[in-house]
Amino acid sequence: MGRRIPEDVRITSRNFMTEIKITLPDNSVKTMPIGITSQQVADSIGSGLARAVVVAKIDGNLTDLNNPLEKDCALELFTGDTPEGHDTLLHSTAHLMAQAVKELFPDTKVTIGPTIENGFFYDFDVDVAFSDEVLAKIEQKMKVLAKSGQEIVRQEMSAGDAVKMFNDMGEPYKVEIISQINPEDVISAYTQRDFTDLCRGPHVSNTKKIKYFKLLSTSGAYWRGDEKNKMLQRIYGTVFASKDALKTHLHNLEEAKKRDHRKLGKELHIFAFDDEVGPGLPLWLPNGTVIIEELEQLAKNTERKAGYDQVRTPHLTKGSLYEKSGHLKHYKDSMYPAIDVDGTEYYVKPMNCPHHHKIYAATPKSYRDLPVRLAEYGTCYRYEKSGQLFGLMRVRSLQMNDAHIYCTKEQFKEEFLAVCKLYLKYFDIFGIEKYSMRLSLHNTEGLGKKYVNEPELWLETEKWVKEALQEGNLDFEEVVGEAAFYGPKIDVQVWSAIGKEFTLATNQVDFAIPQKFGLTYTDEHGSGQTPLCIHRAPLGTHERFIGFLLEHFGGNFPLWLAPIQVAVLPVSDKNLKYAHEVTERLKDSGLRVKLNDRADKIGAKIRQAELEKINVMLVVGEKEANEKTVSVRRRFEGDCGVVSLDSLKDQLVEEIKQRRLSHSKETEAAIE
Ligand SMILES: [Zn+2]
Ligand SMILES: [Zn+2]
Repeated sequence: MGRRIPEDVRITSRNFMTEIKITLPDNSVKTMPIGITSQQVADSIGSGLARAVVVAKIDGNLTDLNNPLEKDCALELFTGDTPEGHDTLLHSTAHLMAQAVKELFPDTKVTIGPTIENGFFYDFDVDVAFSDEVLAKIEQKMKVLAKSGQEIVRQEMSAGDAVKMFNDMGEPYKVEIISQINPEDVISAYTQRDFTDLCRGPHVSNTKKIKYFKLLSTSGAYWRGDEKNKMLQRIYGTVFASKDALKTHLHNLEEAKKRDHRKLGKELHIFAFDDEVGPGLPLWLPNGTVIIEELEQLAKNTERKAGYDQVRTPHLTKGSLYEKSGHLKHYKDSMYPAIDVDGTEYYVKPMNCPHHHKIYAATPKSYRDLPVRLAEYGTCYRYEKSGQLFGLMRVRSLQMNDAHIYCTKEQFKEEFLAVCKLYLKYFDIFGIEKYSMRLSLHNTEGLGKKYVNEPELWLETEKWVKEALQEGNLDFEEVVGEAAFYGPKIDVQVWSAIGKEFTLATNQVDFAIPQKFGLTYTDEHGSGQTPLCIHRAPLGTHERFIGFLLEHFGGNFPLWLAPIQVAVLPVSDKNLKYAHEVTERLKDSGLRVKLNDRADKIGAKIRQAELEKINVMLVVGEKEANEKTVSVRRRFEGDCGVVSLDSLKDQLVEEIKQRRLSHSKETEAAIE
């Protein structure tokens, strides 16, 4: 490319060694003395920015604010509320915490202190137990240290020199870390007053920039995660750019604790684990089973309309099938050991795919039969290490909203788009407002190794997938080199009402397996062709999805999903007869109704129904019995007045039929 020297560069060269040109993101250019720091540039722009800025990017590289600018450059300044700035704040606060711990307990040996999502932790080798009081003391010390306005200075040295330095400081863990680095390599460390920590950076330039932080909890942690090593003490903390942001985050953490699916699952009698059944094998209690049935009904109705056929497959299968599918080669670690049946190895199934392929192959297909869409809420068993098991999120038995679509190349795009639209429909039904789709593509280097060697098919299907996503107006992010072995895939993440992220499902395109299984169809000209296959599971597994829904709704399920939809609460025993009549009438309309016929006072009955998070409470007394009405109370709405039993019944049936979300986040927040 021929280069013309732009005018501004010529001017710069005239001012050689005295001034530089700094291009800001809005393309404005500032002429500044050479050696100026990013902080000083921020100071020259305005006092608000000067205070809020925490890190800079110079020509695309993140760097400390007190780094001098030596030549013409593009400069971006980040405040603490940007991802770059927040990470810098988190890192810097971890150092501040380590400094505070060392000042309070000088014998402490520091280890590592990485950032995590919206937080950081640091592991210490120290004899003092980190109780709540000690944590408060550390936090107090951090406040003093932050306010004292210490400069944070970066220095670079060879790894060899760093080993000497940390050895002199009596920090054996740091020495161990650095000893693994080539002694010639240059590494960096950050120093504030007499505390130095090994770190890549960048960091804030002064501890004054760290204001709104909170230490959250402590836990034990083995050095390098190995239980043979010494147990260290870990402190978790967080920091934000503003008081409000910190407050919101702490509120969300509290809310997340209240909404923890393990806690709610127990309180609302949704699921249980039992030692004698085995870890990771959930038992679905009656209330949880109601939710499962409702979800399956939703899926089956939706799939029927979309042209799917339901199928059923056994839980046990000969090993030869999984040899053919490649599971035994690539997936054996996640499978349960073989069971010997009359000299043949059988496995409990880790996936439904091979069975569906066999169902496709069971009857001859012509192009007129395609697309074939086979759906099953299939139960699979996967071996997860016991340390990895987590509530309903990581389990060993799972029921999957599975389906496989077999289609021609010409049909592929439309089929894929229909699957994407299914996701949107479900998001709408469940009030999922935030989601992301990550499209993983192949790379050419991996062809024939990591990826099936079908260069053209890769390019074609990836193009179709992208077009389908675009036509469906779905936001997605592309990642090259992360596709599955046999085709591109889409991972779907969703966020609960309080912003907690969940991995929901994966959609995969598969152009290798149909060939492996010898799946064919006869085309218009009478010759055999191989179909493409789409694996999809928009509702993921019951386990993960119900875990998500528990946290998303905070246990306050919309009426159609609620295990108990209506509580009938007679004011006294005198009204029992009418209460029974109300209960029966509503049950006849298909509603799930619970009559509380205990001798408690009405106030106690209402409180009980509220504890059980029952959506509709019907208070029936003498007046209601005489007039054939009910007094309605609804969760998050309170008293809804007196209505005739018939009109209430119609209203509820309609609400359920529409699968309406009964209340918004806002009404919920206002009450709780
Ligand atoms: Zn650091
Ligand atoms: Zn599959």
